[in-house]
Amino acid sequence: MSVSLLFVVGHPIKHSLSPAMHNGVISRLGLPLVYIPVELPKGHLRTFLSIVREANFLGGNVTIPFKEEVVALSDVRSEMVEACGAANTIVVRDGKLFAENTDGEGFMDALVMRGWGRRHSNVVLLGAGGAARGIAFALGKAGTDKIVLLNRNLQRADEVARILSPGLPSTRFSTGGIDSGTLEEAFRDADLIVQCTPLGLAEEWSDFPYNAVKKNTYFADLVYRAKGISIVHMLCARGVPSMDGLPMLACQAARSFAFWTGENPEGELFLSFADKSLKNMIDSTEFPANRR
Ligand code: NAP
Repeated sequence: MSVSLLFVVGHPIKHSLSPAMHNGVISRLGLPLVYIPVELPKGHLRTFLSIVREANFLGGNVTIPFKEEVVALSDVRSEMVEACGAANTIVVRDGKLFAENTDGEGFMDALVMRGWGRRHSNVVLLGAGGAARGIAFALGKAGTDKIVLLNRNLQRADEVARILSPGLPSTRFSTGGIDSGTLEEAFRDADLIVQCTPLGLAEEWSDFPYNAVKKNTYFADLVYRAKGISIVHMLCARGVPSMDGLPMLACQAARSFAFWTGENPEGELFLSFADKSLKNMIDSTEFPANRR
């Protein structure tokens, strides 16, 4: 029986949960597939993709630092990829590379998985990187009325709002910095807060205004660690419904898997393998950022 390959390419890649998660699902379904981690130095993505086109790959995941670079190197881009300027999934068909971004819809699936629903009127996004862009776009498409983008680099938040606004005419955008006063004010009206920066991994968010988060606001963090995320712990203790980034990791993986294989295993199955492999992973301060 011939075996096809899937990849995750990034640098570094050693902390990625994706190989254990996807190979767990592949083995459960008995598919002739293997998901391999590829650690690639910067400057070599084009060469790697030329091999992917010709060899027995069905596709793969792309992570930091290649998520933006892969867009221009692909043959076809989804609406989501065009909107966020970043891709996390490549599907190979007849030697052509299709670029997709499953972060936004994977996040929406995680909301549904937790029973929080897809539509939230007032949303505060902390961060304005690739993940925040995809999530803002998906939330806007799902009917969010107002998105407040708060970022350390205000210019970047303004630029993201400017890029996304034309495709989301029913969503109002406003922007700001991440000082605790600005956060407190934004949290007052928030139905959902999404933390889209790496803070909480190696470095804590020291002046995060926990007390300003209302108990009827949902809080979702994109980062996860074996020992949990402090903001999520603190908010859960205050009775605020909160989750870390593991459900999103599982749900975006499930969406990528469906693109490659046509199979639709539930996000819960990916979550169970992600959870197991996270527990087996040594949680060290060297862990710089979540990796797929
Ligand atoms: P990115 O494009 O590099 O953006 C990083 C964002 O975080 C920027 O807005 C940046 O602000 C901000 N930031 C970085 N360091 C900061 C600090 N020390 N203080 C305040 N803000 C800081 O990264 P991304 O792809 O959006 O990913 C963001 C995080 O989400 C990463 O940790 C990533 O691993 C995680 N993620 C998780 C999943 C999942 O499935 N759970 C999926 C995607 C991403 P500036 O613009 O000011 O630099």
